[in-house]
Amino acid sequence: MSELTHDKMGRKVSLLSSSYKKPEDAWYLRAWWLRQRRFQLEKEPFCAMCWSDRKLITFATEVDHIEPHKGDYNKFRLGKLQSLCASHHQGSKKFEEIRGYSKAIGPDGTPLDPRHPIHSGKAPTGRG
Ligand SMILES: [Zn+2]
Repeated sequence: MSELTHDKMGRKVSLLSSSYKKPEDAWYLRAWWLRQRRFQLEKEPFCAMCWSDRKLITFATEVDHIEPHKGDYNKFRLGKLQSLCASHHQGSKKFEEIRGYSKAIGPDGTPLDPRHPIHSGKAPTGRG
């Protein structure tokens, strides 16, 4: 009974089922990570993206891997970290992980990320 919980649809699912929970989720519960996380938030208490995007100072509540580790334990342990507010952690960062590029725009109006489709010449300009 203790191994069972309910998913969003109210179905019974096993906590041990790998499709329900990614194995790397457990890494975030390790003492090592909790220490890293606290250290990062003490070192950089403000959201890195609020500052770079809008020169806003927002308290960070999340610690994010700048390069998504995608389940690679070495990247998880050695990857560079940044502090983010909750909305940035779930917002632009998720966009970047799903699309594979950042939508950050430079001062000249051109996307900063070389992976942005506009740099490949394939993106529709909307003007023909
Ligand atoms: Zn932010």
